Amino acid sequence: MSVLNTLTSKEAMDLEHNYGAHNYHPLPVVLNKGEGVYVWDVEGKKYYDFLSAYSSVNQGHCHPAIVNAMKHQAETLTLTSRAFYNDQLGPYEQYITHYFGFDKVLPMNTGAEAVETALKITRRWAYQVKGIPENNAKIIVCKNNFHGRTTTIISFSNDSTAREDFGPYTDGFIKIPYDDTTALQNVLETHNDIAGFLVEPIQGEAGVYVPSDNYLKTAKALCEAHNVLFIADEVQTGIARTGRLLATCGNCSCANKDCSETPDVKPDVLILGKALSGGVYPVSAVLANNPIMEVITPGSHGSTFGGNPIAATVAIAALQVIKDEQLTDNAERLGHLFRDQLNAYIKNSNIVKLVRGKGLLNAIVINDTEDSDTAWNICLKLRDNGLLAKPTHGNIIRFAPPLVMTEDQLLDCVSIIIKTLSTFETS
Ligand SMILES: *Cc1c(COP(=O)(O)O)cnc(C)c1O
Repeated sequence: MSVLNTLTSKEAMDLEHNYGAHNYHPLPVVLNKGEGVYVWDVEGKKYYDFLSAYSSVNQGHCHPAIVNAMKHQAETLTLTSRAFYNDQLGPYEQYITHYFGFDKVLPMNTGAEAVETALKITRRWAYQVKGIPENNAKIIVCKNNFHGRTTTIISFSNDSTAREDFGPYTDGFIKIPYDDTTALQNVLETHNDIAGFLVEPIQGEAGVYVPSDNYLKTAKALCEAHNVLFIADEVQTGIARTGRLLATCGNCSCANKDCSETPDVKPDVLILGKALSGGVYPVSAVLANNPIMEVITPGSHGSTFGGNPIAATVAIAALQVIKDEQLTDNAERLGHLFRDQLNAYIKNSNIVKLVRGKGLLNAIVINDTEDSDTAWNICLKLRDNGLLAKPTHGNIIRFAPPLVMTEDQLLDCVSIIIKTLSTFETS
């Protein structure tokens, strides 16, 4: 028995506080087990997980098909580096490119690394293919974006907590408001050095902001007209979360929710992470077609762990679960049910202003000031009532359960949420 198994919640939290950097402010709950939509704390209390590690555990905690793939590969071959070939990477690259309908993939580990990779590919493409003069390429990004935590990525964030005292910042980014195609058009028409437009199909961290219906389609068309790469960061929205395989397929006229072959909005560069491994291992990827991906040459980019055999086999298993268990359809169906139920409650609520989202990526906006601790207090109460969620920015609570949830479980969760919210109502 490891000493960890005898820790109380208090002891575990104290250890993290004393020996770990304080770069997070976790909800006070210490977990030591997960299965499907549930997690357990060290005292044995069971909870619904309504965060899914920020949409990583879409396939449910410890999915046996994914865990078995990992176990098998861990006992066979774990890491070769890309100095040599391994027998898992090629089949994975074939699998994922066919799955999402792209010529090529570049495998990385974390979401931020994949975003960095996409930015590098876009800049190279700008110089080598589009012909922008050296060091002039600009990438358009959106206000209130979240793309990760590296120095370059926080350079174009406008979250002061994420940026403060981390300068000097990386140049070459132009920030425009989200969900504003006029702003995009203005920048495109007044600059001839634009390489790409980096966008989240739904802004998750910012508070699950769903753009207007034609936003992505119009933005993509504008990019195409100006020979600018449309780069979709689907690290959080991708892989069935929003009731479509990709959120960029959200308003596609095609009826197949799992289609990513010829959607109305097909990104030139697609960034995936999080649920690409079902939450068992850090796996991220950048997908693009040959004319773009071919700017990457040996030595120009890499990662010791990127494309390792465990990651490759885990990602195949994780993507296969999405199709085998029809999680895209489930997310779509349960998402409607969730918002319908909450909207019925909100009609007579003082404490909740609204619910918004797509599929099982949703959020409620609390009726209180941005800097109030009401959302945090609601999350503490939800925890006491057996459901784990976390405020995003200020007074917004994100709800993103694993997609393997059943209808009965979802209704159970809705009743926990409503029961909890009702104790905060002021009449
Ligand atoms: C989580 C996230 C990232 C960063 O992923 P990490 O694995 O934490 O580096 C990037 N983009 C979006 C949209 C995300 O949600």
